[in-house]
Amino acid sequence: PISINDPIEEHRICVCVRKRPLNKQELQKKECDVVTVPSKYVLMVHEPKQKVDLTKYLETQTFRFDFSFDETSTNEMVYRFTARPLVETIFEGGKATCFAYGQTGSGKTHTMGGDLSGRNQNASKGIYAFASQDVFLLLNQPRYKSQNLEVYVTFFEIYNGKVFDLLNKKAKLRVLEDGKQQVQVVGLQEEPVGCAEDVIKMITIGSACRTSGQTFANANSSRSHACFQIILRRRGQMIGKFSLVDLAGNERGADTSNADRLTRMEGAEINKSLLALKECIRALGQNKSHTPFRESKLTQVLRDSFIGANSRTCMIAMISPGMSSCEYTLNTLRYADRVK
Ligand code: ADP
Ligand code: MG
Repeated sequence: PISINDPIEEHRICVCVRKRPLNKQELQKKECDVVTVPSKYVLMVHEPKQKVDLTKYLETQTFRFDFSFDETSTNEMVYRFTARPLVETIFEGGKATCFAYGQTGSGKTHTMGGDLSGRNQNASKGIYAFASQDVFLLLNQPRYKSQNLEVYVTFFEIYNGKVFDLLNKKAKLRVLEDGKQQVQVVGLQEEPVGCAEDVIKMITIGSACRTSGQTFANANSSRSHACFQIILRRRGQMIGKFSLVDLAGNERGADTSNADRLTRMEGAEINKSLLALKECIRALGQNKSHTPFRESKLTQVLRDSFIGANSRTCMIAMISPGMSSCEYTLNTLRYADRVK
């Protein structure tokens, strides 16, 4: 176990879970909260079951993670114990990744992107912004200041196996793999940034691009993976890279029956990429020599993050607390449990 003052330093893989509060609609419907977080590691789901005599009982399932965040936790707290310990990695020549996994509406975008619209009174930064802030903080420390490091960001979306640039009007990009297994997203915009405020601008532009042209605010973004990257370079040479990924809703993977052809194809693609992701993270954790990164576009694009001695990953599994989400919540927790 890790103490609260000693965030996960030596672990290559960290798996955490975050429970969001019941929302207005759920409260209006008087939905039960079926998730409890009895300690900072343990999370319990109380699933109502029907007995033969028709009285109800609760079947409790218990899970253990590196951290379990309850509904009172803030984005900043979640950041501190998940992505924050990975920031140094990219200054030491490594690759870091942080994934937000979970059902649509469970809080992935809230946690990663935050709310930068300024429309919300309780507007908050997300992990993209906090991580960028700390990158510039470190960059200006004496031990790194003399190294003349440059910072760039990229922001792209993977939808149905295709890559689109969110910093360049959703331009469709090609992914190429050379003979040395180096994977390149051709033409991906790398924006130079000089301070945390520059990064916030890029996050705002990219997030707006992600949701533009959508009839239903959440429809398309729930079917795509969004990847925000912070890249460190010295005289053009890459030193380190931090990829922060807001994954497609995992319930989409199950969207196979009762759906039109496109939705079925999208569902199958999402399913494939989330399974491939799980296997790649497991391979990293077990120091396996073979990483099945070719199984999906997502894992292919992130290939260099799953290999190398200095690669570290963190997954935050987001869950909705309502009884109606129980089945999805358990699926999310089982997936996260397998990644550990
Ligand atoms: P997802 O990206 O997983 O589909 P969102 O991040 O869009 O889900 O969250 C759905 C809604 O719930 C949003 O309105 C968001 O602001 C709200 N929400 C999510 N997580 C929290 C939280 N921890 N606290 C308060 N509101 C939250
Ligand atoms: Mg989202």
